[in-house]
Amino acid sequence: MNDDRALEALLQWYLAAGADEAIGEEPVDRFAETERRLAERNSARAAPAPARPASPPAAAPAVPAGPRLGPDSPATAIAEARAAAMAATTVEELGRAVAAFEGCSLKHTATNTVFADGNPLSRLMFIGEAPGADEDRIGRPFVGVSGQLLDRMLATIGLDRTSAYITNVLFWRPPGNRKPTEAEVAICRPFVERHIALVDPRLLIMVGGTASAALVPGSAGITRLRGRWMALEIPGLATPLQAMAMYHPSYLLRSPDRKRDAWADLLSIKSKNRTNPS
Ligand code: URA
Repeated sequence: MNDDRALEALLQWYLAAGADEAIGEEPVDRFAETERRLAERNSARAAPAPARPASPPAAAPAVPAGPRLGPDSPATAIAEARAAAMAATTVEELGRAVAAFEGCSLKHTATNTVFADGNPLSRLMFIGEAPGADEDRIGRPFVGVSGQLLDRMLATIGLDRTSAYITNVLFWRPPGNRKPTEAEVAICRPFVERHIALVDPRLLIMVGGTASAALVPGSAGITRLRGRWMALEIPGLATPLQAMAMYHPSYLLRSPDRKRDAWADLLSIKSKNRTNPS
């Protein structure tokens, strides 16, 4: 293998492992960093112990200094997310609460918090999986290639971002667009449920398998679930919400033979939206 081919193969390997973005101008030698830390630790151990102060300092910090990297366990993070979500009384407040939340580790690798796009007064809400690279860079959901297909699909039934509201079940991009973990979905769910309750849509469309599994736990896979209206209980909503799953546009890009099903689902949304006006 010549050098160019070897380099290309190495880049492909990084891409497959999820390392698809350069996040620093200068390379960092992590080996040298580790060695420096070890040397510091060893010399601190070798040094004589400092004399113990007579009494502890008056204002010892309760937690070690440094950036907070999120709560200790998913259960703590879920409880914090629930408290923050419930404290929000408007969609704008909820957006700020999500942006301020530190309990989901995805936030630490993401560039932007991606909350929502479209019209929050619309009674038709679409909920997808998670931001991808374009959404992470721009800070709005569904703006990349699959988002452009979603826009074209909506246009076929007379909808756009002034007449629909669009969000995701995760607010931060999973590195390398990997599938979100159950813990990440569970940590974001209190915000997602509060989001739905505050928007209070007439119809909810779950875009793809991850969004459907997040909102209808234990449900059949997307192939069996799509195209069927169901009544979904959402905490904070007085009555069950009419919801339906449809294929994710990124799946349709890979499997164009499923566009016939997607078209049937779009027509069903159009008809239901007409009989459930705002
Ligand atoms: N895919 C999603 O599910 N959501 C986005 O915002 C972009 C791509």
